[in-house]
Amino acid sequence: MNHDPFRGYDQWKTASPYDEYPNEPENCDFAQAFPDYESPADLYRATYKYTACGPSVGFHERRPDNAGRWHYCSDLLKLGTWDEINERGIILDCISVSSIVEGVDAEVEATYIDCDPYGGDDPEIISKDYWNAVEYTNERANEIWNETHGCETCTDGESRPGDTPVNPDCPNCGGNGIVI
Ligand SMILES: [Zn+2]
Repeated sequence: MNHDPFRGYDQWKTASPYDEYPNEPENCDFAQAFPDYESPADLYRATYKYTACGPSVGFHERRPDNAGRWHYCSDLLKLGTWDEINERGIILDCISVSSIVEGVDAEVEATYIDCDPYGGDDPEIISKDYWNAVEYTNERANEIWNETHGCETCTDGESRPGDTPVNPDCPNCGGNGIVI
């Protein structure tokens, strides 16, 4: 039955790779989500510069067999522009925003924005989720700062660096706290 046309047809059909992956993976339209920035590195630089807490930004590169990896901050330069990323077939399926609060070991845990590797995301939603994550991270970093960065005058009693809340009415630091 080597020449059975139905058998041959059936074999071809069940072996089709398109059964499992109906579409080629493609990035969210990042250029449309972040029209003021030409690359992940550019987006990170602007976010770092204009957000008080100086957040860290990461992009996760999707690879086969769970071999994906994160690119953070200045390492994002290696990815190139949004266009270059698409031309090179690099698929970015998650963005992270986090922050380290200097002087204490506290860290604002990362917020993750999943990006559908089959292009199913609305760029406006990705953009909104990203800037919300930046705002949240900055607020949390401020809270941690205010819980820990009080100066000697912030409390009447003894104060320990890294363990003194900022007193908003402190005449010494003006309620800003101090760099530890
Ligand atoms: Zn003070």
